[in-house]
Amino acid sequence: MAEIIVIGAGIVGLSAALALQRDGHRITVLDPAGPAGGASSGNAGWLSGASVVPMSYPGMLKSVPGWLMDPLGPLSVRWAYLPKATPWLWRFIKAGTRPQIERQATALRQLLGTSVEAHRELARRVGAQHLIQQQGSLWVYRTQAAFQADAGGAALRRARGVVVEDLDADAIRQLEPSLSREIKFARFVAENGHCTDPAALCHLIAEAIVREGGQILPERAVALDQRDGKVVSVRTDRANHPSDWVVLAAGAWSAPLAVQLGDRIPLETERGYHLEITDAQAMPRVPIMSGEGKFAATPMAGRLRLAGTVEFAGLAAAPDWRRAELLLRHAQALFPALPATIAEARLSRWLGHRPSTPDSLPVIGRSRQAANAIHAFGHGHVGLAGGPHSGRIVADLVAGRPPSIDLTPFSPGRF
Ligand SMILES: Cc1cc2nc3c(=O)[nH]c(=O)nc-3n(C[C@H](O)[C@H](O)[C@H](O)COP(=O)(O)OP(=O)(O)OC[C@H]3O[C@@H](n4cnc5c(N)ncnc54)[C@H](O)[C@@H]3O)c2cc1C
Repeated sequence: MAEIIVIGAGIVGLSAALALQRDGHRITVLDPAGPAGGASSGNAGWLSGASVVPMSYPGMLKSVPGWLMDPLGPLSVRWAYLPKATPWLWRFIKAGTRPQIERQATALRQLLGTSVEAHRELARRVGAQHLIQQQGSLWVYRTQAAFQADAGGAALRRARGVVVEDLDADAIRQLEPSLSREIKFARFVAENGHCTDPAALCHLIAEAIVREGGQILPERAVALDQRDGKVVSVRTDRANHPSDWVVLAAGAWSAPLAVQLGDRIPLETERGYHLEITDAQAMPRVPIMSGEGKFAATPMAGRLRLAGTVEFAGLAAAPDWRRAELLLRHAQALFPALPATIAEARLSRWLGHRPSTPDSLPVIGRSRQAANAIHAFGHGHVGLAGGPHSGRIVADLVAGRPPSIDLTPFSPGRF
């Protein structure tokens, strides 16, 4: 039995902690913000094995200049932050060649293809079965041009075994009557699931970890003390914790700690927003992705969550809540039953930090410098879906078992 420190109590760290605990290890999870204090609470809740399309691909890059000209478009860069983001953005553009995209999509399918199954298994263990749904998800479009523009993404999914169904206007109406009649094109993926309360899920995992003898401490890891090629203790803002193994799962905040482990990872925060409407007048039956607005509308427990947009502005900049309002405006056009004015008391807003690498693949694997340190971060847009599987992989690496998938594409040394 080993003493293992997990840095970060998001879905990835908590899933790893739980999987390691099942192998009999003593677990301490460190997080100054507590469980679900980062991106894992306010995300769109999609458990999408179909999300294999990397963010950098030629079709998308063509749209970028237009998006950037519009301060409230789906993608924005705060100009003061541009010099800081440029090296990452350059790598991001370079990652979008056809052969790389094919490889990235295959790797993502390997990691995410079992998302719903992995979540169900985890949920059974922590009593969260009620939070995991499998009703499929729907990508919707007003115009044929937008529908066609996403055909490349659909082809990537189909080539990896995802069943993607094209729907005409009548079929859309039958499946999702809440949608505007202006929506004429859609693609449906039946295998997808969603989580109706990602924060509650994280809290239930955290409670299970504590129930089974682990501890979750509100501490920030600041230094990883190493001797003879191994981490011997994790120093925090409050204490020093000796450790046999360390798992680095601090989401968008992981890069400085990874540097201490000898791994320089290009990690950027793709800031995203949500706006939630409690007891919304329109409630889709299935999670919906707006092809034009590039945001998700997910039916959550008691509320409709609108989530999306990408903003490059770093970890510290204040939120730009206009980006959350933009989601509401898009949703009002998508769902006619949503009124033009909604009482402020029913709305809530959130900003989160997607931990993103230029090639849209997380970093999962041993550190190059410390043999007992494992990286598990950088899941970008798909960390909720990929968290439980990533956690199991971490436990396999600690146990010396062959992991369920080939980890070469996720290697910390690939950059
Ligand atoms: C708007 C939006 C919508 C999204 N929608 C989806 C979706 O539908 N499906 C999906 O799969 N993914 C989605 N994502 C992505 C997903 O939320 C993330 O990939 C995922 O939550 C990352 O999990 P994580 O555990 O790596 O990081 P986080 O949840 O961010 O957790 C990292 C934790 O580390 C802690 N930490 C930081 N520094 C330290 C330190 N020094 N010491 C200790 N702890 C530290 C932080 O406090 C934080 O709690 C979305 C993201 C956003 C922003």
